Amino acid sequence: MSFTYRDGELHAEDVPLAAIAARHGTPTYVYSSAMLRSRYRAYVEAFADLAPVVCFALKANSNQAVIATFAREGAGADIVSLGEMKRALAAGIPASRIVFAGVGKTADEMRAALAAGIMQFNVESEPELRMLSGVAEAMDARAPVALRVNPDVDAGTHAKITTGKAENKFGIEMAQAPDVAALARALPGISLEALSVHIGSQLTTMAPFRAAFARLGDLARRLNATGPRLRRLDFGGGVGVVYRDEVPPDLSAYAAAVREAVAGLDVGIVLEPGRSLVAEAGVLLARVIRVKEGTAKRFAIVDAAMNDLIRPTLYEAWMPIMPVRAPREGANLSPMDVVGPICETGDYLARDRDMPPLAVGDLVVVGAAGAYGSAMGSTYNSRPLAAEVLVSGSRTALVRPREDIEAIIARESLAPWQA
Ligand SMILES: *Cc1c(COP(=O)(O)O)cnc(C)c1O
Repeated sequence: MSFTYRDGELHAEDVPLAAIAARHGTPTYVYSSAMLRSRYRAYVEAFADLAPVVCFALKANSNQAVIATFAREGAGADIVSLGEMKRALAAGIPASRIVFAGVGKTADEMRAALAAGIMQFNVESEPELRMLSGVAEAMDARAPVALRVNPDVDAGTHAKITTGKAENKFGIEMAQAPDVAALARALPGISLEALSVHIGSQLTTMAPFRAAFARLGDLARRLNATGPRLRRLDFGGGVGVVYRDEVPPDLSAYAAAVREAVAGLDVGIVLEPGRSLVAEAGVLLARVIRVKEGTAKRFAIVDAAMNDLIRPTLYEAWMPIMPVRAPREGANLSPMDVVGPICETGDYLARDRDMPPLAVGDLVVVGAAGAYGSAMGSTYNSRPLAAEVLVSGSRTALVRPREDIEAIIARESLAPWQA
Protein backbone atom coordinates (compact mmCIF):
# COMPACT_ATOMS: atom_id res chain seq x y z
CA MET A 1 0.00 0.00 0.00
CA SER A 2 1.17 3.51 -0.74
CA PHE A 3 -0.13 5.37 2.32
CA THR A 4 0.92 3.59 5.51
CA TYR A 5 1.94 4.36 9.07
CA ARG A 6 5.60 3.80 9.78
CA ASP A 7 6.85 4.44 13.28
CA GLY A 8 3.52 6.08 14.03
CA GLU A 9 3.74 8.57 11.15
CA LEU A 10 1.64 8.40 8.00
CA HIS A 11 3.83 8.16 4.89
CA ALA A 12 3.24 8.53 1.18
CA GLU A 13 5.46 5.74 -0.13
CA ASP A 14 8.76 6.46 1.68
CA VAL A 15 8.06 10.10 2.51
CA PRO A 16 6.53 11.27 5.80
CA LEU A 17 3.49 13.43 5.06
CA ALA A 18 4.62 15.76 7.84
CA ALA A 19 7.74 16.51 5.78
CA ILE A 20 5.60 17.42 2.77
CA ALA A 21 3.45 19.72 4.91
CA ALA A 22 6.57 21.37 6.34
CA ARG A 23 8.03 21.94 2.90
CA HIS A 24 4.97 22.82 0.81
CA GLY A 25 2.35 23.89 3.33
CA THR A 26 -1.28 22.83 3.47
CA PRO A 27 -3.83 22.14 2.06
CA THR A 28 -1.92 19.95 -0.39
CA TYR A 29 -2.87 16.99 -2.52
CA VAL A 30 -0.28 14.21 -2.42
CA TYR A 31 -0.19 11.49 -5.07
CA SER A 32 1.67 8.18 -5.10
CA SER A 33 3.30 7.30 -8.43
CA ALA A 34 3.50 3.62 -7.49
CA MET A 35 -0.22 3.48 -6.79
CA LEU A 36 -1.11 5.31 -10.02
CA ARG A 37 0.95 2.83 -12.02
CA SER A 38 -0.35 -0.20 -10.19
CA ARG A 39 -3.99 0.82 -10.73
CA TYR A 40 -3.35 1.30 -14.44
CA ARG A 41 -1.51 -2.01 -14.74
CA ALA A 42 -4.37 -3.80 -12.99
CA TYR A 43 -6.63 -2.84 -15.91
CA VAL A 44 -4.05 -3.86 -18.49
CA GLU A 45 -3.54 -7.23 -16.80
CA ALA A 46 -7.23 -8.00 -16.28
CA PHE A 47 -7.87 -7.29 -19.96
CA ALA A 48 -4.60 -8.69 -21.31
CA ASP A 49 -6.25 -10.99 -23.87
CA LEU A 50 -8.42 -8.14 -25.22
CA ALA A 51 -5.57 -5.62 -25.59
CA PRO A 52 -7.77 -2.61 -24.79
CA VAL A 53 -6.97 1.05 -25.23
CA VAL A 54 -7.24 2.26 -21.65
CA CYS A 55 -8.27 5.89 -21.92
CA PHE A 56 -7.76 7.68 -18.61
CA ALA A 57 -10.79 9.92 -17.97
CA LEU A 58 -9.01 13.21 -17.39
CA LYS A 59 -11.90 14.78 -15.58
CA ALA A 60 -11.04 12.67 -12.51
CA ASN A 61 -7.60 14.28 -12.18
CA SER A 62 -6.07 16.49 -14.82
CA ASN A 63 -2.67 17.29 -13.32
CA GLN A 64 0.06 17.01 -15.96
CA ALA A 65 2.25 14.80 -13.77
CA VAL A 66 -0.63 12.38 -13.20
CA ILE A 67 -1.56 12.25 -16.89
CA ALA A 68 2.10 11.81 -17.86
CA THR A 69 2.41 8.88 -15.44
CA PHE A 70 -0.32 7.11 -17.41
CA ALA A 71 0.96 8.31 -20.78
CA ARG A 72 4.28 6.57 -20.05
CA GLU A 73 2.37 3.36 -19.35
CA GLY A 74 0.78 3.60 -22.81
CA ALA A 75 -2.57 5.03 -21.78
CA GLY A 76 -5.00 6.94 -23.94
CA ALA A 77 -7.29 9.71 -22.72
CA ASP A 78 -11.02 10.23 -22.41
CA ILE A 79 -11.64 13.95 -22.73
CA VAL A 80 -14.74 16.12 -22.40
CA SER A 81 -13.45 19.51 -23.52
CA LEU A 82 -10.83 21.15 -25.69
CA GLY A 83 -9.01 22.08 -22.49
CA GLU A 84 -8.69 18.42 -21.61
CA MET A 85 -7.48 17.60 -25.13
CA LYS A 86 -4.70 20.16 -24.72
CA ARG A 87 -3.79 18.74 -21.33
CA ALA A 88 -3.70 15.17 -22.71
CA LEU A 89 -1.51 16.12 -25.68
CA ALA A 90 0.78 18.23 -23.49
CA ALA A 91 1.31 15.28 -21.16
CA GLY A 92 2.33 13.04 -24.05
CA ILE A 93 -0.83 11.11 -24.86
CA PRO A 94 -0.99 10.65 -28.65
CA ALA A 95 -4.09 11.98 -30.41
CA SER A 96 -4.62 8.52 -31.87
CA ARG A 97 -5.51 7.30 -28.35
CA ILE A 98 -7.94 10.09 -27.43
CA VAL A 99 -11.71 9.71 -27.26
CA PHE A 100 -13.86 12.83 -26.97
CA ALA A 101 -17.06 12.42 -24.94
CA GLY A 102 -19.69 14.88 -23.74
CA VAL A 103 -23.11 16.16 -24.76
CA GLY A 104 -22.07 19.72 -25.59
CA LYS A 105 -19.08 19.67 -27.92
CA THR A 106 -18.94 22.97 -29.80
CA ALA A 107 -18.06 23.32 -33.50
CA ASP A 108 -14.73 24.88 -32.48
CA GLU A 109 -13.94 21.89 -30.27
CA MET A 110 -14.88 19.50 -33.06
CA ARG A 111 -12.60 21.30 -35.52
CA ALA A 112 -9.66 21.28 -33.13
CA ALA A 113 -10.08 17.59 -32.30
CA LEU A 114 -10.42 16.66 -35.97
CA ALA A 115 -7.33 18.64 -36.85
CA ALA A 116 -5.43 16.88 -34.06
CA GLY A 117 -6.52 13.50 -35.40
CA ILE A 118 -8.19 11.96 -32.35
CA MET A 119 -9.27 8.32 -32.33
CA GLN A 120 -12.99 8.88 -31.94
CA PHE A 121 -15.80 11.27 -31.13
CA ASN A 122 -18.35 9.72 -28.79
CA VAL A 123 -21.49 11.28 -30.23
CA GLU A 124 -24.42 11.66 -27.88
CA SER A 125 -27.29 12.86 -30.13
CA GLU A 126 -28.49 13.17 -33.70
CA PRO A 127 -28.06 16.97 -33.80
CA GLU A 128 -24.47 16.52 -32.60
CA LEU A 129 -23.88 13.96 -35.34
CA ARG A 130 -25.17 16.37 -38.01
CA MET A 131 -23.06 19.22 -36.70
CA LEU A 132 -19.95 17.04 -36.60
CA SER A 133 -20.56 15.87 -40.14
CA GLY A 134 -20.84 19.47 -41.32
CA VAL A 135 -17.66 20.48 -39.53
CA ALA A 136 -15.76 17.51 -40.97
CA GLU A 137 -17.04 18.06 -44.51
CA ALA A 138 -15.91 21.67 -44.43
CA MET A 139 -12.43 20.36 -43.53
CA ASP A 140 -12.56 17.69 -46.22
CA ALA A 141 -12.40 15.08 -43.51
CA ARG A 142 -14.40 12.27 -42.03
CA ALA A 143 -14.88 12.20 -38.29
CA PRO A 144 -14.36 8.79 -36.66
CA VAL A 145 -17.46 8.27 -34.57
CA ALA A 146 -18.70 6.07 -31.75
CA LEU A 147 -22.39 6.41 -31.03
CA ARG A 148 -22.87 6.66 -27.29
CA VAL A 149 -26.03 4.80 -26.49
CA ASN A 150 -28.12 5.14 -23.37
CA PRO A 151 -29.00 1.59 -22.34
CA ASP A 152 -31.60 2.69 -19.74
CA VAL A 153 -29.89 0.85 -16.91
CA ASP A 154 -29.92 2.06 -13.31
CA ALA A 155 -26.33 2.15 -12.12
CA GLY A 156 -27.40 2.20 -8.47
CA THR A 157 -25.02 5.06 -7.71
CA HIS A 158 -25.53 8.64 -6.48
CA ALA A 159 -28.24 10.51 -8.44
CA LYS A 160 -25.75 13.19 -9.59
CA ILE A 161 -23.43 10.67 -11.22
CA THR A 162 -25.84 8.16 -12.73
CA THR A 163 -25.88 8.65 -16.49
CA GLY A 164 -27.43 5.60 -18.13
CA LYS A 165 -31.15 6.09 -17.48
CA ALA A 166 -33.49 7.26 -20.23
CA GLU A 167 -34.22 10.46 -18.26
CA ASN A 168 -30.51 11.40 -18.09
CA LYS A 169 -29.13 13.84 -20.68
CA PHE A 170 -26.56 11.34 -21.93
CA GLY A 171 -26.44 9.14 -24.99
CA ILE A 172 -28.77 8.08 -27.75
CA GLU A 173 -31.76 6.05 -26.67
CA MET A 174 -31.46 2.38 -27.54
CA ALA A 175 -34.66 2.41 -29.60
CA GLN A 176 -33.38 5.31 -31.74
CA ALA A 177 -29.87 3.92 -32.13
CA PRO A 178 -30.43 1.91 -35.35
CA ASP A 179 -31.85 4.98 -37.13
CA VAL A 180 -29.06 7.23 -35.88
CA ALA A 181 -26.53 4.59 -36.98
CA ALA A 182 -28.10 4.53 -40.45
CA LEU A 183 -27.83 8.31 -40.57
CA ALA A 184 -24.20 8.12 -39.43
CA ARG A 185 -23.44 5.70 -42.23
CA ALA A 186 -25.06 8.03 -44.75
CA LEU A 187 -23.60 11.37 -43.65
CA PRO A 188 -20.62 12.45 -45.75
CA GLY A 189 -18.50 13.73 -42.87
CA ILE A 190 -18.92 10.71 -40.60
CA SER A 191 -17.19 7.36 -40.37
CA LEU A 192 -19.18 5.15 -38.02
CA GLU A 193 -16.59 3.00 -36.28
CA ALA A 194 -17.79 2.20 -32.81
CA LEU A 195 -20.45 2.18 -30.13
CA SER A 196 -19.95 3.39 -26.58
CA VAL A 197 -21.75 3.27 -23.27
CA HIS A 198 -21.16 4.88 -19.86
CA ILE A 199 -23.81 4.40 -17.22
CA GLY A 200 -22.33 6.26 -14.28
CA SER A 201 -19.53 6.45 -11.78
CA GLN A 202 -18.71 4.73 -8.46
CA LEU A 203 -20.60 1.56 -9.38
CA THR A 204 -20.20 -1.10 -6.72
CA THR A 205 -22.15 -3.96 -8.30
CA MET A 206 -21.62 -5.86 -11.53
CA ALA A 207 -25.26 -6.30 -12.54
CA PRO A 208 -25.75 -2.84 -14.13
CA PHE A 209 -22.45 -3.17 -16.01
CA ARG A 210 -23.46 -6.62 -17.29
CA ALA A 211 -26.88 -5.40 -18.42
CA ALA A 212 -25.44 -2.36 -20.19
CA PHE A 213 -22.56 -4.29 -21.81
CA ALA A 214 -24.91 -7.01 -23.05
CA ARG A 215 -27.18 -4.39 -24.65
CA LEU A 216 -24.17 -2.78 -26.29
CA GLY A 217 -22.99 -6.12 -27.69
CA ASP A 218 -26.46 -6.98 -28.98
CA LEU A 219 -26.80 -3.64 -30.72
CA ALA A 220 -23.36 -4.08 -32.31
CA ARG A 221 -24.44 -7.47 -33.70
CA ARG A 222 -27.62 -5.95 -35.13
CA LEU A 223 -25.74 -3.08 -36.75
CA ASN A 224 -23.06 -5.38 -38.16
CA ALA A 225 -25.84 -7.26 -39.95
CA THR A 226 -26.95 -4.13 -41.81
CA GLY A 227 -23.72 -2.38 -42.79
CA PRO A 228 -19.97 -2.11 -42.44
CA ARG A 229 -18.59 -3.93 -39.41
CA LEU A 230 -17.99 -1.86 -36.26
CA ARG A 231 -14.33 -1.70 -35.34
CA ARG A 232 -14.47 -0.91 -31.64
CA LEU A 233 -16.70 -1.04 -28.59
CA ASP A 234 -16.14 1.47 -25.79
CA PHE A 235 -17.27 0.37 -22.34
CA GLY A 236 -17.01 3.74 -20.57
CA GLY A 237 -15.86 4.47 -17.03
CA GLY A 238 -14.33 2.01 -14.63
CA VAL A 239 -15.35 0.27 -11.44
CA GLY A 240 -16.06 1.99 -8.13
CA VAL A 241 -13.48 2.34 -5.39
CA VAL A 242 -13.35 1.78 -1.64
CA TYR A 243 -14.06 4.89 0.41
CA ARG A 244 -15.57 3.17 3.42
CA ASP A 245 -16.80 -0.41 3.27
CA GLU A 246 -17.82 -0.74 -0.37
CA VAL A 247 -16.90 -3.96 -2.15
CA PRO A 248 -16.46 -2.85 -5.76
CA PRO A 249 -16.45 -5.43 -8.54
CA ASP A 250 -13.01 -6.87 -9.10
CA LEU A 251 -11.44 -6.25 -12.44
CA SER A 252 -11.48 -9.88 -13.49
CA ALA A 253 -15.29 -9.99 -13.16
CA TYR A 254 -15.50 -6.68 -14.98
CA ALA A 255 -13.28 -7.96 -17.79
CA ALA A 256 -15.35 -11.16 -17.95
CA ALA A 257 -18.51 -9.09 -18.55
CA VAL A 258 -16.76 -7.26 -21.40
CA ARG A 259 -15.47 -10.54 -22.85
CA GLU A 260 -18.98 -11.97 -22.78
CA ALA A 261 -20.48 -8.92 -24.48
CA VAL A 262 -17.99 -8.97 -27.36
CA ALA A 263 -18.06 -12.72 -27.96
CA GLY A 264 -17.85 -13.34 -31.70
CA LEU A 265 -17.68 -9.65 -32.56
CA ASP A 266 -14.02 -9.18 -33.48
CA VAL A 267 -13.83 -5.62 -32.17
CA GLY A 268 -11.18 -3.55 -30.43
CA ILE A 269 -11.91 -2.60 -26.82
CA VAL A 270 -11.84 0.90 -25.38
CA LEU A 271 -12.09 1.55 -21.62
CA GLU A 272 -12.46 4.97 -19.96
CA PRO A 273 -11.62 4.54 -16.27
CA GLY A 274 -11.10 7.67 -14.21
CA ARG A 275 -11.86 7.31 -10.52
CA SER A 276 -10.43 3.81 -10.10
CA LEU A 277 -7.07 4.85 -11.57
CA VAL A 278 -6.52 7.81 -9.27
CA ALA A 279 -8.82 7.87 -6.21
CA GLU A 280 -6.77 5.64 -3.94
CA ALA A 281 -3.50 7.12 -5.19
CA GLY A 282 -4.16 10.51 -3.62
CA VAL A 283 -4.75 12.14 -0.25
CA LEU A 284 -5.59 15.68 0.75
CA LEU A 285 -3.27 16.85 3.51
CA ALA A 286 -4.59 19.52 5.87
CA ARG A 287 -3.68 21.14 9.18
CA VAL A 288 -5.93 21.76 12.16
CA ILE A 289 -6.47 25.49 12.66
CA ARG A 290 -8.75 25.31 15.67
CA VAL A 291 -10.64 22.85 17.81
CA LYS A 292 -14.09 24.00 18.88
CA GLU A 293 -16.07 22.25 21.57
CA GLY A 294 -19.79 22.92 21.21
CA THR A 295 -22.44 21.54 23.51
CA ALA A 296 -23.87 19.36 20.74
CA LYS A 297 -20.72 18.73 18.67
CA ARG A 298 -16.98 18.83 18.56
CA PHE A 299 -15.40 20.46 15.53
CA ALA A 300 -11.91 20.32 14.12
CA ILE A 301 -11.59 23.30 11.80
CA VAL A 302 -8.89 22.51 9.24
CA ASP A 303 -7.29 24.52 6.44
CA ALA A 304 -8.82 22.41 3.63
CA ALA A 305 -12.40 23.13 2.67
CA MET A 306 -15.18 22.40 0.21
CA ASN A 307 -13.41 24.50 -2.43
CA ASP A 308 -10.52 22.03 -2.26
CA LEU A 309 -12.65 18.89 -2.00
CA ILE A 310 -16.33 19.18 -2.82
CA ARG A 311 -17.25 15.49 -2.83
CA PRO A 312 -18.49 15.26 0.77
CA THR A 313 -20.98 18.07 0.36
CA LEU A 314 -21.85 17.65 -3.35
CA TYR A 315 -22.34 13.89 -3.38
CA GLU A 316 -22.86 13.33 0.34
CA ALA A 317 -19.73 11.24 0.00
CA TRP A 318 -18.19 9.53 3.00
CA MET A 319 -14.43 9.87 2.73
CA PRO A 320 -11.90 8.41 5.14
CA ILE A 321 -10.07 10.84 7.40
CA MET A 322 -6.98 9.99 9.42
CA PRO A 323 -4.57 11.81 11.69
CA VAL A 324 -1.03 11.93 10.28
CA ARG A 325 0.38 10.91 13.66
CA ALA A 326 -1.08 7.55 14.61
CA PRO A 327 -3.18 7.72 17.77
CA ARG A 328 -1.50 6.39 20.91
CA GLU A 329 -2.38 2.85 21.88
CA GLY A 330 -5.65 3.06 23.83
CA ALA A 331 -6.27 6.71 22.84
CA ASN A 332 -9.79 7.89 23.48
CA LEU A 333 -11.69 8.19 20.20
CA SER A 334 -14.72 10.44 20.16
CA PRO A 335 -16.99 11.74 17.42
CA MET A 336 -16.25 15.06 15.75
CA ASP A 337 -16.93 16.96 12.56
CA VAL A 338 -13.91 17.89 10.47
CA VAL A 339 -14.83 21.12 8.71
CA GLY A 340 -13.26 23.86 6.62
CA PRO A 341 -13.23 27.63 7.16
CA ILE A 342 -15.77 28.43 4.43
CA CYS A 343 -18.93 30.29 5.38
CA GLU A 344 -21.37 27.50 4.59
CA THR A 345 -22.74 24.75 6.76
CA GLY A 346 -22.15 22.45 3.79
CA ASP A 347 -18.43 23.02 4.16
CA TYR A 348 -17.36 19.82 5.81
CA LEU A 349 -14.97 17.00 5.00
CA ALA A 350 -16.27 14.45 7.49
CA ARG A 351 -19.07 14.32 10.02
CA ASP A 352 -19.44 12.41 13.25
CA ARG A 353 -16.15 10.58 12.92
CA ASP A 354 -14.46 8.89 15.79
CA MET A 355 -11.18 10.74 16.02
CA PRO A 356 -8.40 10.79 18.57
CA PRO A 357 -7.86 14.09 20.39
CA LEU A 358 -6.64 16.69 17.88
CA ALA A 359 -4.73 19.83 18.74
CA VAL A 360 -4.03 23.03 16.84
CA GLY A 361 -1.28 22.37 14.31
CA ASP A 362 -1.93 18.63 13.98
CA LEU A 363 -2.06 17.22 10.48
CA VAL A 364 -4.89 15.12 9.05
CA VAL A 365 -5.48 13.58 5.64
CA VAL A 366 -8.60 12.84 3.69
CA GLY A 367 -7.94 9.50 2.02
CA ALA A 368 -8.93 8.24 -1.43
CA ALA A 369 -8.99 11.87 -2.58
CA GLY A 370 -7.09 11.48 -5.86
CA ALA A 371 -10.24 11.44 -8.00
CA TYR A 372 -12.68 14.32 -8.43
CA GLY A 373 -10.77 16.18 -5.72
CA SER A 374 -8.28 18.70 -7.02
CA ALA A 375 -9.93 18.56 -10.45
CA MET A 376 -13.14 19.99 -8.95
CA GLY A 377 -11.34 22.60 -6.88
CA SER A 378 -12.41 26.23 -6.98
CA THR A 379 -11.29 29.51 -5.45
CA TYR A 380 -14.55 30.08 -3.57
CA ASN A 381 -14.04 32.41 -0.60
CA SER A 382 -10.92 33.61 -2.47
CA ARG A 383 -9.04 30.56 -1.33
CA PRO A 384 -6.17 29.80 -3.74
CA LEU A 385 -6.19 26.36 -5.37
CA ALA A 386 -4.29 23.80 -3.27
CA ALA A 387 -0.77 22.65 -4.07
CA GLU A 388 -0.19 19.20 -5.59
CA VAL A 389 2.81 16.96 -4.84
CA LEU A 390 3.85 13.75 -6.56
CA VAL A 391 5.80 11.15 -4.60
CA SER A 392 7.89 8.35 -6.05
CA GLY A 393 9.73 6.24 -3.49
CA SER A 394 11.67 8.72 -1.41
CA ARG A 395 11.41 11.50 -4.00
CA THR A 396 8.84 14.30 -3.94
CA ALA A 397 8.07 16.96 -6.49
CA LEU A 398 5.77 19.95 -6.36
CA VAL A 399 3.69 19.35 -9.51
CA ARG A 400 1.42 22.34 -9.03
CA PRO A 401 2.34 25.19 -6.72
CA ARG A 402 -0.29 26.68 -4.50
CA GLU A 403 -2.07 29.35 -6.47
CA ASP A 404 -1.06 32.92 -5.68
CA ILE A 405 -3.88 35.18 -4.53
CA GLU A 406 -2.08 38.27 -5.85
CA ALA A 407 -1.99 36.68 -9.30
CA ILE A 408 -5.70 35.88 -9.08
CA ILE A 409 -6.50 39.48 -8.20
CA ALA A 410 -4.19 40.80 -10.92
CA ARG A 411 -6.21 39.03 -13.62
CA GLU A 412 -9.21 41.17 -12.76
CA SER A 413 -9.57 44.85 -13.61
CA LEU A 414 -11.89 47.78 -13.16
CA ALA A 415 -14.22 48.87 -15.95
CA PRO A 416 -12.88 51.97 -17.72
CA TRP A 417 -15.63 54.17 -16.28
CA GLN A 418 -14.56 53.26 -12.75
CA ALA A 419 -11.14 54.82 -13.18
C1 LIG B 1 -16.89 10.41 -15.96
C2 LIG B 1 -16.76 9.56 -17.16
C3 LIG B 1 -15.84 8.50 -17.18
C4 LIG B 1 -15.03 8.11 -15.97
O1 LIG B 1 -15.81 7.48 -15.02
P1 LIG B 1 -15.13 6.85 -13.70
O2 LIG B 1 -16.27 6.39 -12.87
O3 LIG B 1 -14.37 7.96 -13.05
O4 LIG B 1 -14.26 5.75 -14.13
C5 LIG B 1 -15.72 7.78 -18.34
N1 LIG B 1 -16.44 8.08 -19.45
C6 LIG B 1 -17.32 9.09 -19.47
C7 LIG B 1 -18.09 9.36 -20.71
C8 LIG B 1 -17.51 9.86 -18.34
O5 LIG B 1 -18.41 10.86 -18.35
